[in-house]
Amino acid sequence: MLFDAHTHLNFEELTKEERLNLASEIEASDLDYIIDVGDCVESSRQALEDADKYDWCYAAVGIHPDHASVYTDADIEEIRKLAAHPKAMAIGEIGLDFYYGKDDQVEQQELFRKQIRLANELKMPIMIHSRDANQLTMDILVEEGAFSEERKSWFPKRPGPYPDDARVQMHCYSGSAEMAEEYIKMGATISLGGPITFKNGKKAVEVFQHLPVEYVMSETDAPFMAPEPLRGRPNKPYYVEHVVRKMAELKGLSYEEMASILTANAKRFFNIK
Ligand SMILES: [Zn+2]
Repeated sequence: MLFDAHTHLNFEELTKEERLNLASEIEASDLDYIIDVGDCVESSRQALEDADKYDWCYAAVGIHPDHASVYTDADIEEIRKLAAHPKAMAIGEIGLDFYYGKDDQVEQQELFRKQIRLANELKMPIMIHSRDANQLTMDILVEEGAFSEERKSWFPKRPGPYPDDARVQMHCYSGSAEMAEEYIKMGATISLGGPITFKNGKKAVEVFQHLPVEYVMSETDAPFMAPEPLRGRPNKPYYVEHVVRKMAELKGLSYEEMASILTANAKRFFNIK
């Protein structure tokens, strides 16, 4: 019944056994689907290995801005090959991180642009990581055609007041409610995780309350950012339940109703039948 639309079962610090145990816990939980997101060639490969192994696991392949100073063009070619896998549903996570990356901002922008172009070439959904770079992220997405009429023509219309779908996921969105609205008008989908449950998570709550629920996805970004009441521990994909419960409460819907809406949104976005 639940969908974790951005998570890292592939996380490099998990041992083989820990990953197996986590998969069994997922199978025993309410979680029906995850998108296992790569952040470099190696982790993207692991994500596809996970997807091959588990029916409920789908992958995204891409190079995170953290690797901007070390990636090579051969790595991008490798991502292109991995993206041909039938369970590679998106290019990601890609984007800008100016919180940690202060010295490689030029390289980050280059890497980001190259991968938007790759997603356009392959006509695939995109998963965006953006930290301390809100406006520049939007500018680059627009400049590289992530919201072009052509891109929108590749994907079926979606329900609600903003039917154009460019299949751009704003993962763990941390910008303003106004910018979120601008994004969904352009054809993006806003993905929210743990911060919506935090005591200081007012901004994420505002964003969620401002948007029609058709344009929202639930995620964990596990093993990072565990939701309340588990904050501070390593996060797990099935903890997405706490994110969904909070969203249900905020919109005055039952947990089951909210879970089924969010699952339908993510299945549509990632083209999962
Ligand atoms: Zn992530």
